[in-house]
Amino acid sequence: MIDLDNKVALITGSSDGIGAATAILFSSLGAKVAIVGRNQNKLDKVAAECEAKSPHNYKPVVIRADFVNDEDVVRTFEETISAYKHLDILVNNAGQSNNKDFLDADALSDYDRTQQINVRSVVRLTQLAAPYLIKAKGSVVNVSSIASLKAYPSMWSYGMAKSAVDMFTKTMASRLAPNVRVNSVVPGPVRTNFVASLNLDPKAFWDGMVEQQPLQRVADPIDLANMIAFLSCDASRNTTGSIFVTDSGALVADPMKASSSNQ
Ligand code: NDP
Repeated sequence: MIDLDNKVALITGSSDGIGAATAILFSSLGAKVAIVGRNQNKLDKVAAECEAKSPHNYKPVVIRADFVNDEDVVRTFEETISAYKHLDILVNNAGQSNNKDFLDADALSDYDRTQQINVRSVVRLTQLAAPYLIKAKGSVVNVSSIASLKAYPSMWSYGMAKSAVDMFTKTMASRLAPNVRVNSVVPGPVRTNFVASLNLDPKAFWDGMVEQQPLQRVADPIDLANMIAFLSCDASRNTTGSIFVTDSGALVADPMKASSSNQ
């Protein structure tokens, strides 16, 4: 049973996509949430939905921050603690893919930015949150990517970053035990605005993705939110240092089949 009533959760990257779905689900289950993103309009919309869904009418703490900057990462944590004085759950979800080819002259600055957003902010926030999570016997869920397990050459530095996140999950699960559990969720394709930065035709992209998946679907953000909620609460109390793939079967697709629909 998923019980998050009155738990305090900081969910990064929650102005959109997986993070927004997670914040709204957590709110509907009675949690007090802090939501974070760069776009104020999107944050305000998610905050209104969280409040509407909360059985206690809790208003989220809303934090506008860009995780390219260390100061914004620290401020995100400070504003959360200043409001709630407590933390049970940290969901490190904010992430961005790089889009510079490895041979591009500017590839290294793109690499630095990708590591900053996907890895450094996760490490810093977890470090700041750890004393509070230890006290609360809390939980960390890191949102990784299938690109940590399978090579996607066009997202090379993003894949490296997410592999680092998964190893961070394992090492922190050991370092912070027995008080804090740390797990990774590894999405395959999820229907969000994530691909907007990749300069692709969204319809063609998603149609192609559905076609390739053994389950003949791609995830909706709520599919990931459900797994994050499970890993954040006592229902998963025996689990730490684990990497949970939810990918429409992408990793088990049969390379011998032109299309997985030919059964
Ligand atoms: P979205 O683009 O829908 O949402 C990304 C969220 O992260 C937004 O809230 C965005 O804020 C925030 N964000 C992005 N960059 C920054 C930044 N520099 N500073 C602070 N916040 C930032 O993507 P998803 O929901 O799909 O992605 C969520 C996580 O899931 C990411 O870690 C991603 O790597 C991972 N993932 C997604 C997959 C997919 O197919 N969608 C597949 C595998 C992994 P704002 O919009 O306000 O700028």
